[in-house]
Amino acid sequence: MRTGPSQDEIRRLNLGALLRYVHLRGPTSRAELTTNLGLNRSTIGALTADLAAAGLILEELPRDRGRAGRPSLVVRPEPAAYVFAFTIEADRITAARVGLGGVILDRRDTPRPRGELPPVEVVAPLADAVRAMQRSIPPGARYIGSGAAVSAMVRREDGLVRLAPHVGWVDEPLGETLAKVLGPDRPVTIRNGADLRALAEHTRGAAVGCDNLVYLHGDAGIGGGIIAGGRPMTGHGGYGGEVGHMVVNPAGSPCGCGARGCWETEVGEAALLRAAARDGYGRELVAAVVDAAARGDAVAQNAIRQVGDWLGFGVANLVNIFNPEMVIFGGSLREVYLAAAAQVRSRLNRNGLPACREHVRLRTPLLGDDAALLGAAEVAFEPLLKDPLLP
Ligand SMILES: [Zn+2]
Repeated sequence: MRTGPSQDEIRRLNLGALLRYVHLRGPTSRAELTTNLGLNRSTIGALTADLAAAGLILEELPRDRGRAGRPSLVVRPEPAAYVFAFTIEADRITAARVGLGGVILDRRDTPRPRGELPPVEVVAPLADAVRAMQRSIPPGARYIGSGAAVSAMVRREDGLVRLAPHVGWVDEPLGETLAKVLGPDRPVTIRNGADLRALAEHTRGAAVGCDNLVYLHGDAGIGGGIIAGGRPMTGHGGYGGEVGHMVVNPAGSPCGCGARGCWETEVGEAALLRAAARDGYGRELVAAVVDAAARGDAVAQNAIRQVGDWLGFGVANLVNIFNPEMVIFGGSLREVYLAAAAQVRSRLNRNGLPACREHVRLRTPLLGDDAALLGAAEVAFEPLLKDPLLP
């Protein structure tokens, strides 16, 4: 006969729910926790005592004590519990120490030129950054684990990078290499950067409370992160959401993946800069084209219109497939979207099925360029949030 959950299992679930609540929403009064977690006051008191003893929360008197009566203690996450978060992007490598509550305590950025990137040139600066940050960690701080975001197709179970066309990686064991730097006692989780940006915007950004979301990120290529029914849609092996490689123009240009006419060859930075007759690459040049268009430069305006049109075609496809409540445009796509919003919306209205598109909101990220870092921190915190009594 199957029995219900034990007292201990229920306690751990409740501890996880409380810790997740203050981790995502910040300082919260015990009274609010009682209401929002549906638990009684004495249970909340026992749970906060356990979490405080584990060094995961702090309790304090509220600053505003205007009202009469005994004030409800405020519960806040303890940033001494921390993770390392890494992002490997087209133009820079970043390492950060992030405290519980999602606060970036320390960060080190290493800018780099675009193009092929031997893995050792990623791991060495990250290892240096970790060592430098470790020197300033206060005594008593507790390391939970690490997460890394990379613009690539990543195998979920061990962080093997199957394909990262913009840095030239095929079957690169990034998870294994980072585990050697960080030590074997805590997990290192590697995920696709767009997936992590979607997760971060969903948990603490523009899409809080929005359970169906498509996040589009532009840098050297186009990445996609999809949340469906409140859960990341990663597919069987973790490779889902490669929206940049949906073929939209079979007669189009060759793509880094080996196919021709992928969406990113029509809406990526290179497509915009080519259409605007500009040499070079990068977000600054994209911004310069957007500026030129705003000042009336006809070539730049045409380029924005052309890319905006292709952007709209792809968004309409995605809206028809996923029926999202929100589509977020991040990275260099943020600037392109803002300049071409009318174009994108009009394509979506012509090509999107009315029932699929009628409630969709088109947005830019709230977390800006920190979204990938915060998403990487989020996956590193996840084992602790699932079971705060983890040894
Ligand atoms: Zn492709």
